[in-house]
Amino acid sequence: SIRGQYGKHFARYDDALRSPLLREQAITDSMEAALAQDQFQIYLQPKYNIKDDRLAGAEALVRWQHPEWGLLLPSEFIPLFEKNGFITKLDQYVWNKVCSVLQAWSGAGGVPLSISVNVSRADVYQADLIELLTATLEAYGLPASSLHLEITESAYTEHPDQLAATVRRLRELGFVIEMDDFGSGYSSLNMLNQMPLDILKLDMKFIQSETAKPVDQGILRFIMDLARWMNLSVVAEGVETRAQLERLQEIGCDYVQGYYFAKPMPCSAFEALLRNQQEAPPPAAASAAPSE
Ligand code: C2E
Ligand code: MG
Ligand code: MG
Ligand code: MG
Repeated sequence: SIRGQYGKHFARYDDALRSPLLREQAITDSMEAALAQDQFQIYLQPKYNIKDDRLAGAEALVRWQHPEWGLLLPSEFIPLFEKNGFITKLDQYVWNKVCSVLQAWSGAGGVPLSISVNVSRADVYQADLIELLTATLEAYGLPASSLHLEITESAYTEHPDQLAATVRRLRELGFVIEMDDFGSGYSSLNMLNQMPLDILKLDMKFIQSETAKPVDQGILRFIMDLARWMNLSVVAEGVETRAQLERLQEIGCDYVQGYYFAKPMPCSAFEALLRNQQEAPPPAAASAAPSE
C-alpha cells in the first residue's frame, strides 16, 4: 500500500500535524538546512496598473518546498520564524534571490521593473537593516528603486518615531516604501501623517466584504481621497472578482493584485508574462516604441 511504501513520511507528517509543539519543533529543526538546500522558493504575484492593464511589477512571496511535507505556505512557518528570529535570515535570502532575478532580467534589455518584498516586523528595527539592503542592491548592481519594501501596518505602531527615521533614510536612498495591510486596524491617521511613505497597500478586507454596502465604498473613497492628499499611490490586493475590480476603478485606485488577475507563480512563469507583454505593447504605446 501507499501507506506501507511511504509509511515513514506519513508518520512524520502526521506526528508533526497532530501536535503544534511537535510541528514547531520539526520546523525549527529543519529550517537552517532548508535554507542551505534552497528549499525556500520565491513566487511572484503580478501587480497591474488599473488604468492600462499593464504589468507594473510583482510581489515576492516565499514558499517552502519541503521534500517530505510538500509545499508550505507562509502562514505555516512565518509566524514561527518571527518568534525565533529566523525570519531575518530568510528575508535576506529572499531579497538576494529577488535581486538576482531582477539582474538577470535587466541584462536582457527588459523594461525597468520593481519587485515588492515583505520586510518583517522583526527586520525593521534591526540596526543594520539599511546597510544590509544597500549592500544587497550594490552586489547586484541595481538601483534602490528596484525594491519596494512592504512593511505591515502593525509594525509601524511599535516604535513609530524610530521607524519613521528608518524609512525616511531608506526613501532618501531611493527605496520605495509601502504600508502593507493598510486599514487592518492598527494605524491612526495621526501616525500615517507622520510616516514618510510612497504607497498604501489596502488590506484585503476592504474589497472582500461579501456584500458591498454603500458605506464600504464610502470608506474606500475616503482612503483614496486621503491618499491623494498625502501624495500616495494605492494598491489593492486580494482582488478576486470583476465586481471588485469595478469598485476599485470607480474610486480611482492605482494598482491591483489578486487571483482575478494571477496567483503567485514561480519566477520562470512570471518572466514569461513579462516577455509576452514586452512583445505586445498596447495600441497607445505601439507608435512610440522603437521597432526591432
Ligand atoms: P501579504 O504580504 O499581505 O501578502 C498577500 C497574501 O495574499 C499572499 O499570501 C498572497 O498569496 C495572498 N493573495 C494574493 N491575491 C489573493 C487573492 O485574490 N485572494 C486571496 N484570498 N489571497 C490572495 P501568502 O503568499 O500566503 O503570504 C501570506 C503572508 O505571509 C504575506 O501577507 C506576508 O505577510 C507574509 N510573507 C510572505 N512572504 C514573505 C517573505 O518573504 N517575508 C516576510 N517577512 N513575510 C512574508
Ligand atoms: Mg505583502
Ligand atoms: Mg503582510
Ligand atoms: Mg498585505
